[in-house]
Parts: sequence; structure tokens; C-alpha cells
Amino acid sequence: MCGIVGYIGSNNCVPVIIEGLKRLEYRGYDSSGIGVLDHSKLTVIKRKGKVSLLQEIVEKDGMTSNLGIGHTRWATHGEPNEINAHPHFNSENSLIVIHNGIIENYRTLKTGLEKLGYEFLSKTDTEVLAHLIDSFLKRGHNLSKSVRFALNEVDGTYGIAVLYAKEPDKIVVARKGSPLLLGIGNGENFIASDVSAIIAHTNNVVYLEDGEIAEVYTDRFVTKTIAGMPIDKFVEEVSMTLEEIDKGGYPTFMLKEIMEQPESVLNSIRGRLLEETGDIKLGGLTGFEDRLSKVKRFIITACGTSWHSALVGKYMFEQYLRIPTEVEYASEFRYRDPIVSSDDAVFFISQSGETADTLAAMREARSKGALCLGICNVVGSTIARESDAGVYIHAGPEIGVASTKAFTSQLIVLALITVLLARRKNMSLEEGRALVKEFNSLPQRIQEILDKNSEIEEIANHYKDAANFLYLGRGYNFPVALEGALKLKEISYIHAEGYPAAEMKHGPIALVDENMPVVFIAPKDSTYEKIVSNIEEIKARKGKTIIIASDEDYDIEKLADHVIRVPKTASILMPVLTVIPLQLLAYHIAMKKGLNVDQPRNLAKSVTVE
Ligand code: GLU
Repeated sequence: MCGIVGYIGSNNCVPVIIEGLKRLEYRGYDSSGIGVLDHSKLTVIKRKGKVSLLQEIVEKDGMTSNLGIGHTRWATHGEPNEINAHPHFNSENSLIVIHNGIIENYRTLKTGLEKLGYEFLSKTDTEVLAHLIDSFLKRGHNLSKSVRFALNEVDGTYGIAVLYAKEPDKIVVARKGSPLLLGIGNGENFIASDVSAIIAHTNNVVYLEDGEIAEVYTDRFVTKTIAGMPIDKFVEEVSMTLEEIDKGGYPTFMLKEIMEQPESVLNSIRGRLLEETGDIKLGGLTGFEDRLSKVKRFIITACGTSWHSALVGKYMFEQYLRIPTEVEYASEFRYRDPIVSSDDAVFFISQSGETADTLAAMREARSKGALCLGICNVVGSTIARESDAGVYIHAGPEIGVASTKAFTSQLIVLALITVLLARRKNMSLEEGRALVKEFNSLPQRIQEILDKNSEIEEIANHYKDAANFLYLGRGYNFPVALEGALKLKEISYIHAEGYPAAEMKHGPIALVDENMPVVFIAPKDSTYEKIVSNIEEIKARKGKTIIIASDEDYDIEKLADHVIRVPKTASILMPVLTVIPLQLLAYHIAMKKGLNVDQPRNLAKSVTVE
């Protein structure tokens, strides 16, 4: 959920860590802290709030060292304040720990440690680790062993980094359920929870797996399992560049990510379309096509925005493959002893590939014999690595907390999978070719919508003070209505709800009066006539209508307070286009309210807690 970064070498670790924390800040940003080891003395500085506040104080203090670790926290236990921020000390101030994740049995452990005389300063679960490790050090074990022994007693999830004053030549790190990697430099090494924190310094990375621990020295590293078995890890080269994770001239990451959708969508289809044969090639599914064509049922599990793309996926799979498809919230799926068997294929959609509930759902489905397929953005993420097969969406790093380009790329991948399998069933060559053409023209069509940015910004002026919004759509555009409402909620804090347009009459219409803006997603498709009737019903009750309509639909004008036009494409791909004005509308409304769209309150990017 939050961030870890550390450095050991001959340079000053402090600027490296602060810069790394800033890159990780989007993951969780209620407080941050840094701890350094210098001449066998540990110094810690922590602050509530942004990393820039920490930076100010660290610079004033003149903190410097060749060895240190830093943390951005997204509180799970204990409010966000300076005391609860990480790092946490042991009682003698000879050891510090930073931690991402949750120690589920911390209460039991804490009671046991209190009986041994340990005193706790914070309300966090993390502080238990500092004292627990200390208790093993006191029994004469070295740091690495003490960490292993401590972790053996821990239930829950962690990515941790530990410094110990009496072993000032190393950082010890371990992971279970929270990502952690080593960055290998020349005479210096790094640790981080995400490669973006250290990519400015090295492209060479070692990913730790769950249940692994590493001692990281200036010039080498040693890896073991938590049980103590030595393991060989190989160094991988990652291709991400710094430019990819910077704002690229835009005022916010969110706008940058909305605006780069022609490119991100192009990256999602690149090399995957076979124009001649009207087929799709997805390397990650090679060898699984037969099994996929024969499954009795698809299940798609996800959370948040990914759940909305899953719902579009259901419409796609059922229309083209005629395979029953269920869409489940990952958090519900995992806890209700779901009926899943080896006849099923289960997709897990997660931008980060680390979403705790989705990961747990995958492990549940795997234990029941289902084929597990990941649809992730972050390469090398846990879901991507643990699934049987899968497809990367290749949207590039998404930093804005509210997902935009990952959503459109998820839709693309679901549509690609649909066509890949449909061509093996009964989709004709002509239809395959026609759809391939539609995929190819999406970047240009997205650009046409993005060119209407100032028009959409102008519409936002009218609605920035609205207290509520309704979003209505039918068919493929019903999940888009849900996603449009979620975007607005997430970043503008305006209450918004999405509904299938016809459901409106069964309740929500009671809310409609002259103050209620209603966004209709109403392109010319098979449900167009029906949705026009729904629009009439809203107009009859004086609701304000903002209509996402097809380019050539001029009749709609008379029912609309505002129209945003989108070009035509195949119905299966329409959500990729219709969601874009909704992203921009939410964005501009939030900006006009003066809100921080990249880091909306209470939200975090990669939800690695349950
Ligand atoms: N559970 C820990 C805490 O509340 C770590 C949370 C996090 O991952 O930032 O301090």
C-alpha cells in the first residue's frame, strides 16, 4: 500500500531515499519517515503529511549517512501521526524497522512481549516487529536469523526493511504479501517496494518472492527463505525509464494519463493484431487457447475500477463466446467458499497486480483447481507471477490514484481475449478482420475525444457545485456509467451513482429534480431507442442532462443540456471511447473545486490491504 526505499553504499543515502519516497508517495501518503545508521548510531526523523515536509526537516537537520531506509505510510493500525509513522525502534534504539502490510496476530504477539517487559510507544502493528526481532537478538542470534525467527511467528503480510546498529554493514529485508525488490548498483545497492523508487539509479533488479529474506551489503546480497534455506536469485533488467514516470509537462499525473490514452491503447494492441487473418495473438495465453475455448464458465474477479472493466468483460464473453461469465468482487469471492472447479477459468484483473483481495481470490481459486489468469499492468507483480497465464495491459506506469488509462487498456485486453477465442469458435474471417480494423483505429478516435477537452472543461463549470450526480447507461455502457460515477466520487467527493438506465425508474428517479445532473451514455447502438426514452423521463422531471452521444446524432440535442460527442466504433469497443469524456468531466470538476486529483483523500493507489 505504501512505500519502502533504502540505500547502502558510499554516497549520501538521504537524497536518494527522499527522492525515492517522493516517487512512491502516490501509494500512500499520510506520513513518512527516514532512519539512517552512521557510526553505529541510528537517527530517525518522521513527519505526518507529505514527503516534502519530511524533506524540509531532514535538510534543515543536515542528516547524512551511507546507509538508511525510508517509508511512506498509509495507516492501517493507529492514526496517521508522527509517533505511528515508521521507522520504529526497539527499546534500546539499536534497531529500526519499516513495514508495509499488516501483522494480523500483533495483539497476541504484543501481549507476549509486554509480559517480557517490552514497552510500546506507538499504536501500530509494526512496532511489534521491532521488539520481536530484538527478543531474538537478545538470545544471541545475529540480525538475519533474528528477523527470520521473528517472521516465523508472524501471521499477515509484510515487506520489511531492518537496520541494526551492531551490524552496520547491511540492510535486512523480507517479504510476504507486500512487494520488495533489491536494486543492484556498482558498489552500492538499493531496496524498494517498487522499481520506480530506484530506477533513477539502476535498472538491475532482484525481485524477492513471498517467504524470502535478503541481507543487502554494499557490494553483494545474500538471499534465503524465511526458513533459512539458501536460494539463488537472478538479476533482471527492467526497461522502465524516468520519463515514463514523470508528469511530462502536465499539471497532474491524472491529466497526463488521460491524455496519453491514444498511446497507452496503442501499446495494449501493439503486436497483437493479425490484420490478414482477423486473428489476435496474445503471447501470455499461448498454449492455453484450447483449454480456454472449452471451459464451462468464466469468472472475473477484481476490485474498484478493474471490477467495472470485468463487468464489460462479461458482456463481451457472453455475447461473442456464449460462455456464462460471472463477475465477482474479489473481497466477496475469497470469503464465501466459492463454487469453483477445474472446469472454470478465472480472470484476476488488477492494475498493480498486488491488490490484496484479488491476490487472495486467486489463491483461493487456484486451490480449487481453476485455471487462473492474470490481467495486470505492473510487470513482474505478484498476480502476474503467480497466475497460470495472463495478459499484461501494457498501459505504462499509472501514478494518479484514480485509474484512467489502466481502465481503457483493461477493456482492450478483455476485447482482445474475446476476439482471440471467438475466432476459434464461430466468428467469421470478415468479422475478425473488421474488428481488428476497429482496434487499430481506436487511438485516433480517442484523440478526437481528447481534442474536446476544453469543451468538457466548460461543461464542468456548470456542475462543480452539484451535490449529487446520476450516471446511466445500458448494455456495454452500463459498466461505463458505474465507472464514470466512481471517477467523480473518487476525486471530486461529489456523491455519484451509476445505474443501468432502465433501473432508474425503480428508485433513483425519485431523486431527480432541477438540481440533479444526469449523465447519459447514449451512443447509437442497439439500445439507443430505449435510452432515449429514459432521457425523456429525466427531462420531464426537469433533471439536467449531459449526454455522451454519437457524432452523427443530431436529434439528441433537443433532450440535452450538454452533449459530448464520440466517434463510432464496434459496440464491444464503445466503452473505450465513452469513458473518456467521463474521465475528463470528473477531472475538471475536481480541479475546479481546487482538489488534489492525484492524491484524493483517504485513497491509495495499490490496495495491498484487505
Ligand atoms: N500496518 C502498518 C501501519 O499501520 C503499515 C501500514 C502500511 O503498509 O503503510 O503502520
